[in-house]
Amino acid sequence: MTGTFNYEKDSDNIVTVTMDMSGPVNAMNDEYMALMGSTVERLEAERDSIAGVVLTSAKKTFFAGGDIKSMLTLEPGKGEAEMFKMNMEIKSVLRRLEKLGKPVVAAINGAALGGGYEICLCCHHRVALNSKAVQIGLPEVSLGLLPGGGGIVRMVNKFGAERAIMPLLEGTRFSADKAHAAGLVEELADSPEDMIAKAKAWVKANPEAQNPWDVKGFKIPGGDAKNPKIAQMLQGRNPMLYKKTRGLVPAPVKILDVIADTLRVDFDTALEIEARVFVSLVTTPIAKNLMNFFLQMNQVNGGGSRPKGFDKYQTKKVGVLGAGMMGQGIAYVSAMAGIEVVLKDISQDAADKGKAYSEGLLDKRVAKGRMTEEKKAQVLGLIKATADADDLQGCDLIIEAVFENVDLKHQITQELEGKLAENGVWGSNTSTLPITLLAEPSKKPENFIGIHFFSPVDKMPLVEIIVGEQTSDETLAKAFDYSQQIRKTPIVVNDSRGFFTSRVFATYLDEGALLLEEGVDPVLVENLGRAIGMPVGPLAVQDEVSQQLGVKATETNMALDARLGDNFSRETASYRLSKRLIDEHGRGGRFHGGGYYDYPAGGEKALWPEIYNWFYNPEVNLPVEDVKDRLLFRQVVESLRCYEEGVLNNVADANIGSIMGIGFPPHTGGVLQYVNTYGVKAFAQRLAELEDRYGERFAVPQVLKDKAEKGELFA
Ligand code: NAD
Repeated sequence: MTGTFNYEKDSDNIVTVTMDMSGPVNAMNDEYMALMGSTVERLEAERDSIAGVVLTSAKKTFFAGGDIKSMLTLEPGKGEAEMFKMNMEIKSVLRRLEKLGKPVVAAINGAALGGGYEICLCCHHRVALNSKAVQIGLPEVSLGLLPGGGGIVRMVNKFGAERAIMPLLEGTRFSADKAHAAGLVEELADSPEDMIAKAKAWVKANPEAQNPWDVKGFKIPGGDAKNPKIAQMLQGRNPMLYKKTRGLVPAPVKILDVIADTLRVDFDTALEIEARVFVSLVTTPIAKNLMNFFLQMNQVNGGGSRPKGFDKYQTKKVGVLGAGMMGQGIAYVSAMAGIEVVLKDISQDAADKGKAYSEGLLDKRVAKGRMTEEKKAQVLGLIKATADADDLQGCDLIIEAVFENVDLKHQITQELEGKLAENGVWGSNTSTLPITLLAEPSKKPENFIGIHFFSPVDKMPLVEIIVGEQTSDETLAKAFDYSQQIRKTPIVVNDSRGFFTSRVFATYLDEGALLLEEGVDPVLVENLGRAIGMPVGPLAVQDEVSQQLGVKATETNMALDARLGDNFSRETASYRLSKRLIDEHGRGGRFHGGGYYDYPAGGEKALWPEIYNWFYNPEVNLPVEDVKDRLLFRQVVESLRCYEEGVLNNVADANIGSIMGIGFPPHTGGVLQYVNTYGVKAFAQRLAELEDRYGERFAVPQVLKDKAEKGELFA
């Protein structure tokens, strides 16, 4: 099929150009350049006989942005000159369209993000269909890029620097009505017909339309670079940005630079600067990581790890066993997705408390105006809090979230499995216990699976699904579909102690504790944890998880080692220090009044001073790079081991799981993608150095050696 830009002139001489490219979406590529180029040529040739132009799309989306896959293949020093040339060509055609001398209106029938909205910006007027399908904005920053199709330059010229800055730096995606309120589109329409009618009416009413920056005497709203208020505002932005990005992602800083340049030079020079800076970003490792993350997110959410051949399954009634911290959250997200929930605990009182948690969250939504009282009542009405096992009868899914104890979990399975509807699924929310072991007493181990949530359940976007030895594909497909029903991103891993996320997460806590034991200043450990891009330092995370839970989990697993005859649970530094904090000082974690930190009521947390008397040695002076790499690489090494052991099935699940489940720094693109852009060989060499200096936990995994030898990436 060949694509077209359908060209249709009506009796009023208004030309409707309907973009209908050969792919599933309209996108900025060679085909676009040919189609847009010839369309603009024809419009120019027929200028005198036309009244104006309406630009719309035949696809569900208006226009997608650049072609990420082809941008990903671009290597530094290769192809940048062509990329610049192509960018300038795209811009020059759009510039001719906006200077046609006739009104041009964008009729936005679907998503117009990135390049799509940049096309809209060069039109003289924008009418958007008021539908959920419409999303508007310039999200390039989230891909480590900047809007390179004139987006920055036109936003600044249209709105002034102050108003342009947030949508550009945050990459906000606006719904149609929010875009209208923000001025990104001038009109809303109720139907596609209404949209075209409004666009044509505007053409008729504005025969002389031009963009303001092409009118003689134009001044940028709010002032240009010479305006002291603007200069000060821009200056103040840099430190703010640094605080947010910790200097780890260049795109926002570059966007700010181009905004500043746009305020200094003429319009066409600004377009050229924007192109140069855009090209300089495309080949950076961070842009590659973020673009790769975007594609792998689509792969995961598009069902890359879901077995084929099973119809999409809708869970209608879910039983949640244990109304504690996790169970209450699982009940909430399920009810929010419209699923009937039976929340069972050992007493009615405990179950009621779990349901009250949902009520609290719903009250907050109502107070913020994000939910009506009726809707709240409806959601709460879906949750039945109970201590009566019979209420579970007929559930198509039961998720067990009782204490982390094999015998208890076994007993509950035996008691309650029979309540499931025919062929219903039994899910365990265990964080570390092997699913195959938990499934032992089950009469239908093929229907038994791990559905591992993250705390707090209502906020954390990931679910880690664990496939036991006997789990069937059908069960996996159902668990996958349930996770998507409750709007979580599911990754799928194979059974092992600690699965993937818990294993990797534990190494960060442990490396922090090891550094303390070696005498490194705890403040340095914490700051360098944040400097590599982790949300908080390893000691603060340990406090959040709670020392108590950590110790309990380790001891459960040590007992399990004896039972299974393996040695998964080596005594770790995080265990040693947690135990000492609890046993000698009663410091069980933040929830229990304090851990590594004190948490004064109403004040900022501060490191517990006594911690300095434990190990701190001012003579210890480890290279900062070593400390940073130890905190980051430990997690990567553990992930590589999960990959070579077959716990991980694919690279996308590893990358997405690490960023969304355990806060691995997003600019890395995830635990395995980080190795790709660091350089597989270079990474192996650096690991070998760390092993020499700090011990065999940094030993180079075989899979890394193999990849390095073959010159392959983790893809
Ligand atoms: P919790 O102690 O807060 O809650 C457990 C609940 O189970 C309690 O309310 C308890 O009364 C109830 N319970 C115990 N026996 C029961 C029975 N026979 N029938 C019904 N209810 C019973 O624990 P939690 O933090 O919610 O953890 C629950 C599970 O989730 C554990 O397996 C844990 O490893 C796992 N998990 C926890 C986290 C976390 O961050 N806390 C994260 C992921 C997974």
